[in-house]
Amino acid sequence: MDIQIATTERRATPTIKEPIIRLDGVSKTYGGFQALSGIDLVIGKGEKVIICGPSGSGKSTLIRCINHIERHSHGRIVVNGKELTNNTKDIAAVRRDTGMVFQNFNLFPHLTILENCCLAPMKVKGVGREQARELAIHYLRRVRISDQASKYPSQLSGGQQQRAAIARALCMQPKIMLFDEPTSALDPEMVKEVLETMKSLANDGMTMLCVTHEMGFAREVADRIIFMDHGSIVEQSDPGAFFSAPSTERAKDFLKMIL
Ligand code: ADP
Repeated sequence: MDIQIATTERRATPTIKEPIIRLDGVSKTYGGFQALSGIDLVIGKGEKVIICGPSGSGKSTLIRCINHIERHSHGRIVVNGKELTNNTKDIAAVRRDTGMVFQNFNLFPHLTILENCCLAPMKVKGVGREQARELAIHYLRRVRISDQASKYPSQLSGGQQQRAAIARALCMQPKIMLFDEPTSALDPEMVKEVLETMKSLANDGMTMLCVTHEMGFAREVADRIIFMDHGSIVEQSDPGAFFSAPSTERAKDFLKMIL
């Protein structure tokens, strides 16, 4: 993939050969509060992008706008060729293309892991029960918890629940995976198993946007690090440049605090 990161102007969007997500001048306000301002961002197919920055900087809002869990206030968002407007068909198409993994797993507690995985393919895509089951088993194997399929979420460890949530998202066979702090609710010993699962997805070529404070993971997996503060992208560069020579005082302060 041809991704050139400008080292002199780290706020500039790099040249992307095959864009799959594009944001132009995206802003988001909650009441009078500006959570995102003027975000320009292009993500390439297969690219792994880590979004970091202080709490409240707009990271979660940014990825939630990409699958329209939050509706952006201004600007344009195009995901896999579909612009997010009021068109419900396009919104549904974007949601089908983007799997989302949340900090708190968001599994349905009254359904087994297998049922959690079968639900969206059956309801949203009209996949038959047997095929949905096969898909579910395939992806539960992929995250190495097929032996937990008949259990309820509360019977699993946090790490297993998060892997089940990843499998559930994969069952929709998305083109893009969005992760919103997927390890921050986990006990330290479970963080590794979830990061390993995510690394393996990354190695398979999945396009990934991940909000995380796991900087070791970012260093290893990311093609690009985006650093946000106060609702803006303050800098973006490859992990080598970002970690060894952040170009803004805000990023330097953030790294000092987190590393
Ligand atoms: P981050 O993910 O970087 O911690 P968020 O995107 O969650 O930041 O939040 C950005 C800002 O928007 C924060 O100040 C937060 O309080 C505010 N915010 C987020 N969601 C809402 C909401 N639903 N209503 C009002 N303010 C919100």
